[in-house]
Amino acid sequence: MRTLKLKEGIIYGPVSSRRLGSSLGVNLMPGSYKLCTFNCLYCHFGWTKVHSRDVSSCLADFPSVEQVREALEGWLSRNPNGVDYVTFSGNGEPCLHPEFDKMVEVVLQARDKYAPKAKVTILSNSTCLDDERVMSGLRRLDVRIMKLDAGSEETFQTLNRPCTTIQFQAVIENLKKLDEIIIQSVFVQGRVDNTEEGEVGQWIQRLSSIKPREVQIYSIDRPSADQGLDLVSKDRLNQIAKKAEKLCGFPVKVF
Ligand code: SF4
Repeated sequence: MRTLKLKEGIIYGPVSSRRLGSSLGVNLMPGSYKLCTFNCLYCHFGWTKVHSRDVSSCLADFPSVEQVREALEGWLSRNPNGVDYVTFSGNGEPCLHPEFDKMVEVVLQARDKYAPKAKVTILSNSTCLDDERVMSGLRRLDVRIMKLDAGSEETFQTLNRPCTTIQFQAVIENLKKLDEIIIQSVFVQGRVDNTEEGEVGQWIQRLSSIKPREVQIYSIDRPSADQGLDLVSKDRLNQIAKKAEKLCGFPVKVF
């Protein structure tokens, strides 16, 4: 099975999302390749082409603040109140854009002007939180959906395959500094299995220390970069959710 095509433009969708309803995507990453600090085995865009926290070689490929403003205002003015969410997502990790905080500003302004009922959210892999400008942008969003798939360093390395400058413990510590986040976690079996009891136990311990307002878990439902992964059954996801909810006390939802 082929992985999905990259998003060529800045605005895409709206897509009908299991978690967000009608969601208009804003892609801050280059249109012709995936740029990410991770190279997740399950990524539906295939393998990461530029796998780095250092984006200096990509500067000419990012959309500008004015291009994003123009594209989003154009779409929203033609489709007033046509979406439930405006979502930073796309061809990699949105927080890698060197002007992420300014992007948040223009997206919030466009939303206020043309679609005041829509919420602005992000799907982030949680790896750029040591940058204060990223943190200040994230804190202004209505909803922050942050990735945490692993409970252990070993699973972090084999499933998410971070670039060398990203440390698992630092990701956890930085997540603790953000209030009211939603953690999203992908569970897989096969070549890597993060559903084993020991791994799930460590993941629950991490969640307890981060204290999100909610956790959303799901398994792969689209083609993955690595073909050796298996879908996790709804029964197993429900067991994991029940255990986490009991031990942590916050809602854990299965999608
Ligand atoms: S963090 Fe997201 S975009 Fe990056 S490799 Fe993982 S699934 Fe793909």
